[in-house]
Amino acid sequence: MTKSYITTPIYYVNAAPHLGHAHTTVMCDIMTRNRKANGVDTRLSTGCDEHGQKNQESAEKLGMDVMEYLDLRSSEFKKAFDLLDVDYDYFVRTTRPFHKEQVAAMEQKFMDAGLIIEKQYTGIYCKGCEQFKTESDLNDEGRCVDHPNMDVEEIDEKNYFFPLEPFRQRLLDHIEANPDFVQPPKFLSELKNMLAEPLEDLCISRPKSRVSLGVTLPFDEDFVTYVWFDALINYLTNLGWPGNDYQDYWSEVEHVIGKDILKTHGVYWPIILMGMGETLPKRISVHGHWLGSGGVKMSKSLGNVVDPLEIVEKFGADALRYYLARHMRAENDSQISVELIQGAYNGELGNKVGNLLSRAAKFSVDRFDGKIPTKGTLTEEDEAARAIALKAAQGFAEVFALTDIPARTEALVQAADELNNYFTAQAPWKLIKDPETADRAQTVLYVTLDSLRVLLEAFRQIIPTSADKALAILAAPVEEGVWSPELDRLEEGGTFGEVVALFPRVT
Ligand SMILES: [Zn+2]
Repeated sequence: MTKSYITTPIYYVNAAPHLGHAHTTVMCDIMTRNRKANGVDTRLSTGCDEHGQKNQESAEKLGMDVMEYLDLRSSEFKKAFDLLDVDYDYFVRTTRPFHKEQVAAMEQKFMDAGLIIEKQYTGIYCKGCEQFKTESDLNDEGRCVDHPNMDVEEIDEKNYFFPLEPFRQRLLDHIEANPDFVQPPKFLSELKNMLAEPLEDLCISRPKSRVSLGVTLPFDEDFVTYVWFDALINYLTNLGWPGNDYQDYWSEVEHVIGKDILKTHGVYWPIILMGMGETLPKRISVHGHWLGSGGVKMSKSLGNVVDPLEIVEKFGADALRYYLARHMRAENDSQISVELIQGAYNGELGNKVGNLLSRAAKFSVDRFDGKIPTKGTLTEEDEAARAIALKAAQGFAEVFALTDIPARTEALVQAADELNNYFTAQAPWKLIKDPETADRAQTVLYVTLDSLRVLLEAFRQIIPTSADKALAILAAPVEEGVWSPELDRLEEGGTFGEVVALFPRVT
């Protein structure tokens, strides 16, 4: 892999950014930083889906002009991702003219190729999903499983459809030949189940009498494009598709999604791409959802909703980035609460990483005139401590998958914990009292600080701001670009930066 293109879904702007948006986007940012550090030319795309009935109604409810509403919401998302230190290359808005033109052009091509049919359709429609539903999509009360509090509507109208069934076998063959098309395997199985039965035609239009916010169909101006049929194309239009050498990045695209949109990304999107004659995504990486503490769903009435921006305000962006990275489970839903975040921030980042740095750095500053200590002959214990740090950091010197992130993050904290044990056992504050062992104190301090530096360089992929702040204390800044963990890069006799608290305790 020399190039990579990572995408978040584009987010529906009918509400303010929430934890789910923050999670997917931060994971993509971590994957992007990891690839860049490993020499892969990587682009990250995120943004907002600004079309569809729900967005239109949200603007109406607030009595706002639609464009004004979309500007406001998009800027909120942008601000949230900036606050979370997400270093994106593209921030999509589906209302931009280039995107809309390309969607319409594609639809005209589909029409010309005979891939779109027109028919009168009677079906059950969920406004929450903005999708027609089959009986099997509904619960016992006849409501959408994803929107059990909303009534479904029976709708009878003319629409345009893209028949998916002719492509089903081809998609199954592709999955067979590319078993890591969807990761982790649990979600690949789910996708195969979705493809086990014949597929219904995909309704790609909505009459303007019902929805006006969307891309007008080029062949029937009484209709707008179904919001997903428009939104998915953003992954291509960002790259300047169909011109602009998009292929270099497109052939390496990895979509990161929540499990609730597996069907749109695993079934609809690959088949749309087949219809276009485009390459299928290289990978779709899927994650579960976040539940409140105790595994209960987050809800306003329970008061257990975790607002990402409140967390940033209280603990800083890195507390949230760290928690999401470390405590996400690969195939199942994970738990989160303000208390859990606080516990991880104080107990893991603070006690294990931050404290060790400030103890060792302050001690050195006090005893050695603000200078980084000099190391002498290394003992077995020193070598063992160094090896632990190097091994944990090594996990960041290779390209990892979404599902690797928690274990690799945990390994860094675990290594910091073992460095704490080493530091305590070696007790440099005792060694320094005896002139015969005073040099040995310097070696212990150097080994501690240099090993910590190795961990912090790896931490830059997870919590970039805090890691850089820590490296500034050690006067060991890292340049952007290709990185690999190496010992002894801490400059003996160098001058410490100001020793500030990295993760000040929050109570
Ligand atoms: Zn629904």
